[in-house]
Amino acid sequence: MNAGLPMFDAPPAVDRVGVLFPLRLPEPFDYQAPSAWSLEPGAHVLAPLGTRRIHGVVWRVERDCPAAGNLKAIEASVDAPLLPETSRRFIDWTARYVCTPPGLILKMVVRNERMLEPAPLRTVYRATGVMSGRLTPARAAILAIAASEPASAADLARQAQVSGAVVKGLIDTGALAPEQSAEEGPFPAPLPEGGELRALSALQEEAAEMLRAMVRRGGFEVALLDGVTGSGKTEVYLEAAAEMLRRDAHAQVLVLLPEIALTQAVLARFEARFAARPVEWHSAIPDKARKRAWREVALGRARLVLGARSALFLPYANLKLIIIDEEHDGSYKQDDGVSYQARDLAVARAKLSGAGVVLASATPSLETLVNAQTGRYAHIKLLARHGAAVLPQVELIDLKLDPPEKGRWLSPKLTQAMAEALARGEQALLYMNRRGYAPLTLCRACGHRMKAPDTDSWLVEHKFSGRLVCHLTGFSMAKPKACPECLAPDSFVSIGPGVERVEEETREMFPQARISVFSSDTVQSGAEVRALVESMAAGAIDILIGTQIVAKGHNFPLLTLVGVVDADLGLKGGDLRAGERTYQLLSQVAGRAGRADRPGRALIQTYAPEHDAMLALAAGDRDAFLASEAFAREAAGMPPYGRLAALIVQAPSQSLADFACAALGAALPNAEGVEVWGPAPAPLTIVRGQHRRRFLARANRGVDLSSFMAAWVRPVKLSSAVRVQIDIDPYSFL
Ligand code: ADP
Repeated sequence: MNAGLPMFDAPPAVDRVGVLFPLRLPEPFDYQAPSAWSLEPGAHVLAPLGTRRIHGVVWRVERDCPAAGNLKAIEASVDAPLLPETSRRFIDWTARYVCTPPGLILKMVVRNERMLEPAPLRTVYRATGVMSGRLTPARAAILAIAASEPASAADLARQAQVSGAVVKGLIDTGALAPEQSAEEGPFPAPLPEGGELRALSALQEEAAEMLRAMVRRGGFEVALLDGVTGSGKTEVYLEAAAEMLRRDAHAQVLVLLPEIALTQAVLARFEARFAARPVEWHSAIPDKARKRAWREVALGRARLVLGARSALFLPYANLKLIIIDEEHDGSYKQDDGVSYQARDLAVARAKLSGAGVVLASATPSLETLVNAQTGRYAHIKLLARHGAAVLPQVELIDLKLDPPEKGRWLSPKLTQAMAEALARGEQALLYMNRRGYAPLTLCRACGHRMKAPDTDSWLVEHKFSGRLVCHLTGFSMAKPKACPECLAPDSFVSIGPGVERVEEETREMFPQARISVFSSDTVQSGAEVRALVESMAAGAIDILIGTQIVAKGHNFPLLTLVGVVDADLGLKGGDLRAGERTYQLLSQVAGRAGRADRPGRALIQTYAPEHDAMLALAAGDRDAFLASEAFAREAAGMPPYGRLAALIVQAPSQSLADFACAALGAALPNAEGVEVWGPAPAPLTIVRGQHRRRFLARANRGVDLSSFMAAWVRPVKLSSAVRVQIDIDPYSFL
């Protein structure tokens, strides 16, 4: 002890800490905290902000500073796993790249404060060895169980098959002592050698070995696993995951999937392979499971995570491998709120943490393919279907030459092929990428079209629910009895088809057939998806009619015919990727046919049989199609040969929107290699009562377009009623 030394009344040293809050704030705010707390970057704290006390994360620390009167103090530190450095760097990187305040990215990582709560506890009882009173057989049975594994009173009674009173008696006599235990421990660990191991074909083994070698090399690398549908890409990337889990006892593996519907099938495959269910993460998991998953990921104990794009933002302690299935899929792009492309961010995150990335697809995006062709990504090909299965034969049905009967949507050629498939005891799948019954409801008397009240979109009739629905905003109303314009009763006609209408027609044509509809309206929970997919796989459905959610990943051994009802749907609107997306979706849905040993056939109904995408589908010539797309994009300096960013202005009135656009237009910086078009009224000019305008910026690849956009918008002062959104790498041009 320093008892003999003179005491100084020096103020205690403090740490100066920058705290980032999960709010729309441009940067971390400074606070002070006692040095004795030793707060580290990544620590979760509670700090005063305005009149509130808010959770935030320590972003930087300056140790042992003199206490400053003007700095507020951190109120408390929260006992939760530190947010790892890679997560923090990823947040900063992403915020800059997508031109969004870092606090909003932090919010995507932490989600809400409740994630930080400790695991719930429960009371369990352990045998103490102290026994007073008579040792009855019932008591002995309970004590034997409690001695090997402490359990709750109810569990002890159930396992020993005795009444609760016997357990209570033992507690009262002190033979059982209570203790607190975490309600849910870690998730079961995946076993790289456990579970069901399938023998890979020579081709698959070669691809798997290339991925294993990548994992063994360690560090940042990206591989494109390019294989036709049914070639066994899942089997192959499972081996990459196995190698990672085997080599590094702490490594975490993330598998991103585009749809919850697909998640179920892949989850089951992973569970079988690793004898443990992977940790699931998407919008539909219950709150309790979500908190547990978050905590276990942060603690590094969740080793294998399967999820939707938001799973990329979990606070992984040691993420070493990211697998992105169907990497070309549009659902990796988020447009609402913070807009980002999860595939691109995944590659950036992997680079930050020295992780590997596997991008799997039968129809890779042009972006990824160009990266593979220029050698930035390894290109691993699986060119044949597994086993005896062959790719389906694809035929176009020119609707100008072979039209359906008036008021119908299925051409005679297609219904004939369906009848033949059913007669052979096989299944048919009809693909119609529009929910509901009819996309337009029109008054026969006055021509009035039913539109959403606050949005520039037609209301889609849903017969199933008897409502008119805006697919953009979710607004819905009961279908009126009379035209709201001319008051004519029962004057509505339904124009155009949706899945429900195709179902109606199919039921009329095939009254004996067992028909089901697969769309987000008919099947919502994971369990419902699983049940439908299982009954299709088992042959309990003859004709399945579905939207985009049927296109992906499912293996239906008896399915030999795929009919695309309206192949031109995705070409309308004609944005940058319309052709590419149509090709990807249709080849994916066609690929559902003939997976097992029965040859498959896909019939595609189109009014545009001469379109490049249709010709390529019929010829099965993906690479020629992509080469022509690449040529056109390169000539126009469009992605992946150039960069794009959109600026979307939304205001409650037309004049405010125009005024904001004029201010933005006047502030446009001059920059070499950047062109800016607009403002133009957005194709969806009014959404939820907001008037929308768009600018589009194009830049050469070498230009830092994110910085340009941020520098453009930052100095412009606009009314708080105006919302300006920057969309880097836009996919939607609406
Ligand atoms: P992809 O993802 O390329 O479409 P999958 O990995 O889903 O292909 O495989 C297609 C089907 O073939 C699945 O039913 C899968 O179980 C089966 N399959 C692929 N490879 C093997 C293998 N080596 N052994 C057994 N079944 C396989």
